[in-house]
Amino acid sequence: MTFKFNTKTVHFQKKMEEMNVSKAQPIYQTSAFSFKDLDDMEDFYRGNKEYLYTRYSNPNTDDLGQGVAQLEGAPKGLATSSGMSAILAGILAVVSHGDHIIASEDIYGGTYQLFANELKEFGIEVSFISMHNSVEIENAIKGNTKLLYSESITNPLLRVEDMTSIVSIAKRNNLKTMIDNTFATPFLIKPFELGVDLVVHSATKYIGGHSDVTAGVLVGKEEIIAKAKSKVANLGCNLSPFEGWLACRGLKTLAVRMERQVKNAQALADFLRNNRFIEKVYYPQSVSPNGNGAIVTIDLGEHCDLHLFFKSLQWIKIVPTLAGVESSVTYPLGTSHRSVPDAIRQKLGITKGLIRVSLGIEDSADIINAFAEAIEKSRV
Ligand SMILES: *Cc1c(COP(=O)(O)O)cnc(C)c1O
Repeated sequence: MTFKFNTKTVHFQKKMEEMNVSKAQPIYQTSAFSFKDLDDMEDFYRGNKEYLYTRYSNPNTDDLGQGVAQLEGAPKGLATSSGMSAILAGILAVVSHGDHIIASEDIYGGTYQLFANELKEFGIEVSFISMHNSVEIENAIKGNTKLLYSESITNPLLRVEDMTSIVSIAKRNNLKTMIDNTFATPFLIKPFELGVDLVVHSATKYIGGHSDVTAGVLVGKEEIIAKAKSKVANLGCNLSPFEGWLACRGLKTLAVRMERQVKNAQALADFLRNNRFIEKVYYPQSVSPNGNGAIVTIDLGEHCDLHLFFKSLQWIKIVPTLAGVESSVTYPLGTSHRSVPDAIRQKLGITKGLIRVSLGIEDSADIINAFAEAIEKSRV
């Protein structure tokens, strides 16, 4: 067949042959899938073919959802455009107009915004309470309560949630539970296996792991994920194939990254606990057999000059995020908790001297040196 120029410019690629099996997953960077004939297309609607249109599903994003679901021990997973859209899709799969959610008061700042401002406009009411007090949870339950929401390890003070207790309260009261497992990852904690209905991730963090992709994942039982999936398709908050592919590449090294990052965190926490210029070190204990997490939060108190400390950190990046392979620091009061009301910040202990450290995969001696130097240069 000889094409003219304009046709040639678009029809130069060979038809995909099933014989060409690449070792790495190809990127299905396509908005839709094509069919041999009408019968072949009808097969999609009969449920014999998986892919029609990328907003509904795509192999690269499905890989990510299923990959995380398997690690969490859940039957089904769904990838979305961000951690926030995964949270929204999960919420809308279990609550609707007129319902009530009980949420932990020390959730991620973005989630707080979604719950406090956006859900209200959907007619969904949210009460923020202290989740580690089961009496407070029981007291907050109303006739229209549908969901208990919290995080497995909270940000930035790293409180480890008692999910067994939350699940048992939920079961007694016929409520669903949803847990943000971003900080812990399934390497440390598997909330679904503790009976949690929906587990959500900002895959932007440890799942992706390289600070180069924004993505979210939601996992749970088939029925509830199917509902969330239709929300994602209808709201258009699907993940792009390339971002799905990148996050999958990151996911493959989750365990080796976490192993090193957790070790580095433990080493830094031990070092800072023995430093008299650090007022307080937040690093949880007995989180899991795989360690206690890769984040360490410190309070400088009055012993170091905050601005000088940040300036003296040399190669450690100052960022509004976490979980990359490079160590970094965050100032919660200036970023994640900027919009949280002052009264709540004070109650939670988000102080002026608070710094959250996300450990990377460097050598722990170099990380410790960098912090020792910053303390030396900024102490007052
Ligand atoms: C970052 C983060 C989110 C939001 O995720 P995005 O990918 O930025 O939308 C939600 N929960 C936690 C705990 C986070 O750290």
